[in-house]
Amino acid sequence: ESRLRRESVTDELTGLYNRKQFNRDLKSGYSSFVRAGRNIALIMYDFDHFKNINDCHGHMAGDKVLSQSAKLISDQLRPSDHAYRLGGEEFAMIINDTAVEDASLMADRIRRSVAGMPFRSGDAIIRATVSMGTAKFRASDTQFDDVLRRADEALYQSKSRSRNTISVIR
Ligand code: GH3
Ligand code: MG
Ligand code: MG
Repeated sequence: ESRLRRESVTDELTGLYNRKQFNRDLKSGYSSFVRAGRNIALIMYDFDHFKNINDCHGHMAGDKVLSQSAKLISDQLRPSDHAYRLGGEEFAMIINDTAVEDASLMADRIRRSVAGMPFRSGDAIIRATVSMGTAKFRASDTQFDDVLRRADEALYQSKSRSRNTISVIR
């Protein structure tokens, strides 16, 4: 039963939590922000030009990049932080009890580690980069997912600036 429960909130390819668990955690994070003013930062990231990776190396190689990067990233998180695959090549992290400035520093370290990682699929070595957006809960928020819109907006800014970068909406 506990295996089934875990599987229902886990993404099979990467082993990260899925969108269902993301929504749960974001909701409970929002409650503790409203109740106790808890500092919580949200980081979203999306791979840059991922279509090119699939086109050049094949879909299976693309999958390898997703699973290897998920491990690279979750290894850098503290036990209180969590990583999620929201869908496709789009991911998120919830960083607890951390000011958005510190979460941004953490995000940028992770971004650089992805850019520096030689991902492997068979004999091929694949380079990949991610664009990131960071945001935090605000006192003016009325819904748990208001922060999601800001993180998404910040991610969009990173895509339009240069990709392989992070943007923050405070
Ligand atoms: P951008 O820098 O603008 O994000 O460019 P992009 O090519 O990454 O564009 P976009 O994010 O819109 O498209 C993502 C592509 O990623 C489309 C799809 O073919 C591929 N993709 C989505 N999910 C998976 C997956 O699970 N495995 C693989 N191999 N590819 C995927
Ligand atoms: Mg992409
Ligand atoms: Mg995408």
